Amino acid sequence: MTVLDRRRFLELCAAAALAPAAHASPRLRVVVAGAGIIGAAVAWHLAKAGAAVTVIDRDGPATHASRGSFAWINATWSKQPRAYHALNQAGVAGWKRLQPELRLPVRWGGSLEGSADAALAAELIERVAEQRDWGETTRLVEPAELATLEPDVDFSALRQVVYSANDGATDPVAATRVFLAAAVALGARAEYPCELTGVALTAGRVTAVRTSRGDIPADRLVLATGAAADAGRRFADWDLPQRDEPGATAVTTPMPRLIRRVLWLPGVHLHQRDDGRIVLGAEAGPPPGEAHVLRLQAYPNVFPEREIALQHATRMSAAAQSFVPGLAALEFEDVRICWRPMPLDGYPVLGASPARPDVYLAVMHSGVTLAPVVGALTVQEILGDAAVEVLKEFRPDRDFKASSGH
Ligand SMILES: Cc1cc2nc3c(=O)[nH]c(=O)nc-3n(C[C@H](O)[C@H](O)[C@H](O)COP(=O)(O)OP(=O)(O)OC[C@H]3O[C@@H](n4cnc5c(N)ncnc54)[C@H](O)[C@@H]3O)c2cc1C
Repeated sequence: MTVLDRRRFLELCAAAALAPAAHASPRLRVVVAGAGIIGAAVAWHLAKAGAAVTVIDRDGPATHASRGSFAWINATWSKQPRAYHALNQAGVAGWKRLQPELRLPVRWGGSLEGSADAALAAELIERVAEQRDWGETTRLVEPAELATLEPDVDFSALRQVVYSANDGATDPVAATRVFLAAAVALGARAEYPCELTGVALTAGRVTAVRTSRGDIPADRLVLATGAAADAGRRFADWDLPQRDEPGATAVTTPMPRLIRRVLWLPGVHLHQRDDGRIVLGAEAGPPPGEAHVLRLQAYPNVFPEREIALQHATRMSAAAQSFVPGLAALEFEDVRICWRPMPLDGYPVLGASPARPDVYLAVMHSGVTLAPVVGALTVQEILGDAAVEVLKEFRPDRDFKASSGH
């Protein structure tokens, strides 16, 4: 990827976000397939720019990755290389820009990333320098300050802790609903359950979108269908190579405040929302064993039984309790298995299908962080004809090389 100057990148993002509506006349009719955080943010930006928008989802809003997401909003060191890091920085800036306008539920306060491993601790020191070069305020934190930043957390087993003050976390279900409600308030239609089943074309141009509720006349289709790996081939005539990456999260009942920031700790990550609910994420995948392999083959979006869900939650809470002793006897409201929308090389796919110019692909991981900037930038491409320069690294026709990053 080419190296982008951060200031130039953020200027371009801000210019795109503030640009006047790019829609052509007559009003373009756009169907957004997928009502996760990406489809919701894109729909709101489109409606705001004057398009006639219909959002559909075969299950309902925020029912897949956007429901089970850990929902950390960040541009930390693992977001490599520079161009991808800069896109994430623009995502964080986008949340800060939109939060007052839409009343998005974000808790800011930064993140603390700890390492007990000597090699990783050494790497963190190098990465802090890189983060600062790239415009972040990231720094190493000493024990005395940790006691102030997180008085209820025991960091004594860790060698190194890094503080990234810019980060936050959201409630991804609530945030998705806020974007959708704001889109509807601007005239967008939302239909659920409504499955995208096909695309009607005349001379290669989209004229309607076929759905389980009938045809919807349309000029453009946005595929914000997340981890649905066959959507590219079926609707964009373009294969989008993705890899399978399940992840588990657990949400507790509301609790008195114990955690003030996002904590990324060995084996577990957690944060506590403003409503008191603690969100836990597992760092490792499922424990080895044939039962897991068999279960995952069916791409489940829920655990098959409450008991199995609770086993996963208990594993996460035991890891968390070793750092936060106050986390005893947790009650869980929701324990989820979800599939990350993960293009094969780990980077977002953003752009019109090379085979169908009216079908726009918007599939990515770190989609919670990226939703505001993706909405702001893609609307320029979906409604206007100009290609947004900063998205050129993320096109669907790039050479995908398998990687396990991001
Ligand atoms: C465990 C986990 C932890 C994560 N942690 C973070 C994090 O900390 N920070 C971060 O930034 N990102 C994180 N992510 C990634 C982030 O959650 C996703 O990138 C983001 O939610 C993707 O949103 P989406 O709208 O693209 O996909 P989804 O939320 O999956 O939505 C896609 C929607 O498309 C619908 N759909 C699919 N096919 C059709 C069809 N044919 N017709 C109609 N509808 C259809 C589905 O029903 C679904 O609702 C995490 C993901 C997981 C799974």
